[in-house]
Amino acid sequence: MSNMTEILENQRQFYNTGKTRSFAFRIKALTRLEQAVSSYEPQIKQALKRDLNKSSAESYMTEIGMILEEIAYLRRHLKKWMEPKKIRAPLAQFPSKCFQITEPYGVVLITAPWNFPFLLSLQPLAGAIAAGNCCVIKPSEYAPESARILKKILRAVFPPKYVCVIPGGKETSQRLLDQTFDYIFFTGSVPVGKIVMQKAAAHLTPVTLELGGKSPCIVEKSANIKMAAKRIIFGKLLNAGQVCVAPDYILADKTVEKELVMYLKYWIRVMYGENPVIHPDYPSIVSRRHYKRLMGMMEQGEIAAGGYGDKKTRKIAPTILRNPDLQAPLMQEEIFGPLLPVLSYETLEDAKAYIAKRPKPLALYLFTRNRQAEREIMDGLSYGGGCVNDTIMHLASSSMGFGGVGESGMGSYHGKDSFETFSHRKNILKKSDRIDLPVRYMPYNTIKEKI
Ligand code: NAD
Repeated sequence: MSNMTEILENQRQFYNTGKTRSFAFRIKALTRLEQAVSSYEPQIKQALKRDLNKSSAESYMTEIGMILEEIAYLRRHLKKWMEPKKIRAPLAQFPSKCFQITEPYGVVLITAPWNFPFLLSLQPLAGAIAAGNCCVIKPSEYAPESARILKKILRAVFPPKYVCVIPGGKETSQRLLDQTFDYIFFTGSVPVGKIVMQKAAAHLTPVTLELGGKSPCIVEKSANIKMAAKRIIFGKLLNAGQVCVAPDYILADKTVEKELVMYLKYWIRVMYGENPVIHPDYPSIVSRRHYKRLMGMMEQGEIAAGGYGDKKTRKIAPTILRNPDLQAPLMQEEIFGPLLPVLSYETLEDAKAYIAKRPKPLALYLFTRNRQAEREIMDGLSYGGGCVNDTIMHLASSSMGFGGVGESGMGSYHGKDSFETFSHRKNILKKSDRIDLPVRYMPYNTIKEKI
């Protein structure tokens, strides 16, 4: 505990020197972070292989590459974002100028999950640095090798009074949440998100919650079914489905459902072979508990593909389930694994109503060539973000923000949204002292009231 308090005190003292606020300091820190990620690439890949059996290509595509791209984007735009923003002054305030300036929050806590242990720590960190904050990172205990390497990388480039990794489980996390931070950025599950918000309320600390939930994928009858199946399989099987924005279940028009299932099976075979659990690049399920939970869900629908796992390697075959039991955990909880239930619908209205009745999802995917259907679904439902004719790829761009709504979270980050998330915006009115209109001052009278 004393160590934790000491780290925070040191960070606050360092923050109060004002050093982290200059443009030059922020750029230098981002550059150091970028160089460190590049030079530790082999260790990062090794850690991801150990913790999750992620392949080298997947590790680069979904973690290292995305972090580097984000840092480059922040560096390119930071100067402009830091400039004071002019705001039109209202006539009633004549003569005056209005403007907005940003300032860092101060000392920030970033709590990360295990599924993308580098991306989900370092991408928010880059935003926190760009905005001029000091930062404590609490990685997940379920990716221990990644947490160890993360700590090593950050210790090599930053003093702990500026950026510090505090590994540990939920007790450590709760003890950290009992401290006073100026901002909390949490990525994880909905139940823990609620705990974080409760703890933050004690200090009135602002929070961003990047949570999860069931992200639906609608396949409308006009869609290119073969392509839809390919992109759904890509999005569903990255990290063996352990992705917050993985398509959780499919709602397919009943006239194309059979064809879709056929192509889903086809692409599983093409991408992962006849027996995916022995494919060396196919990731494992993170823990025995999650392996058991997912194997239990196999019985909650009719198995159209897969349906088995290997307990020793904790790998579960990509599994397509038709006619799932809507009351079972498979359709009530976030799956977070390679099981894909397929439901069919009569009309698009039915599909829309099914989604609208449930908690607002983090992502929504729609496959269609029909503009009317696109408008009806993408405009008419509430969700964090999503894709038309693709899955997952909307979060791979620093030029777009990413975040949830309702139960899937609050706040947004990536690119400019990260800078804004980790900055407080001060709105300022600068009044001239040459003219002083008397209207607002006492004593009031009826003439003043009418002006
Ligand atoms: P989790 O909520 O169990 O853990 C997240 C972090 O919180 C970990 O660092 C953990 O140590 C800590 N924690 C766990 N229990 C705690 C408690 N009782 N009190 C305080 N801290 C606690 O989530 P997870 O299993 O690591 O990750 C999977 C979840 O995260 C899924 O629901 C997934 O959808 C979500 N997720 C969301 C995003 C996103 O960007 N929205 C990204 C990845 C994962």
